Amino acid sequence: MTVQDIKQVTVIGSGTMGNGIAQVFALTGYSVNLIDIKQEFLDKAVAVISKSIDRFIKKEIVTEEQKKEAMARIKTSTDLKVAKDSQLVIEAVTEDLGIKLEIFGKLEGICLPETIFASNTSSLPITKLASATKRPEQFIGMHFMNPVPMMKLVELIRGIATSDETTELIKELAQAVGKTPVEVNDYPGFVANRILLPMINEAAFALMEGVATVEAIDEVMKLGMAHPMGPLTLADFIGLDVCQAILEVMHEGLGDPKYRPCPLLKKMVQAGYLGRKSGRGFYTYQ
Ligand code: NAD
Repeated sequence: MTVQDIKQVTVIGSGTMGNGIAQVFALTGYSVNLIDIKQEFLDKAVAVISKSIDRFIKKEIVTEEQKKEAMARIKTSTDLKVAKDSQLVIEAVTEDLGIKLEIFGKLEGICLPETIFASNTSSLPITKLASATKRPEQFIGMHFMNPVPMMKLVELIRGIATSDETTELIKELAQAVGKTPVEVNDYPGFVANRILLPMINEAAFALMEGVATVEAIDEVMKLGMAHPMGPLTLADFIGLDVCQAILEVMHEGLGDPKYRPCPLLKKMVQAGYLGRKSGRGFYTYQ
């Protein structure tokens, strides 16, 4: 398969990342199937995409006509079987190994043999996810950054069996949708989260230990380190449950206590304070 053969992409999971990925592909001309477990989640995702594209229209990056065409290219479904004709499937469901393995196992029986499978996992082993399929050479990590329509980077993660052909093709495809791919190996947390999450976790420890307030911690990192947003704002943006899940994968995978999730972070997740998406995290949102 060449990059020109990719015409239809299925995105599984329509949350924070899935709707952004669907938007990017639809705006660059691909037919997109967007799948989730409930139609109400999909309706919400379509509304989020529409609003997001409106922001690009305001900035005169996208026209009303392009928006209309892009929205028409997105089909929603709660049935995995719609992936049967796609040349690429990108999985972006909840960061849970069991759920992802089950989905890839089912996809193996639905999709064409040449279809490429990609996972947007933040930290789970690509090699393990690929083991649920009979096509580990056509399996790759395609780790988009949040918010997907804005962020240039796609971390491309090669599993142990990922072929050179698959890697090259997905690299070209990432460029075709306006992203910059960076190739890394399959290792807990890959590169982005291996470095980012310990900082976020340390910020939560500093808060728990009473070193400073939420606002003060963020201000120090913004003004002192020229970060565009503070670590606690960023954690709310990523989702505190996602942060905890990534830290647990690194803690287990690397066996080093420095990656243990901060007890305050865990407590907040238990309370349902998941950040922006639940209306409350380190900050509260309307
Ligand atoms: P999210 O909670 O916003 O969305 C996950 C979606 O998956 C939900 O809509 C949920 O209903 C759906 N889902 C769950 N089980 C499903 C199933 N069996 N079939 C279909 N849909 C299902 O999560 P998110 O933040 O979008 O994260 C998705 C993936 O992207 C995770 O693997 C996460 O680690 C990764 N990721 C997240 C970020 C981030 O900043 N949030 C960044 C990069 C990568």
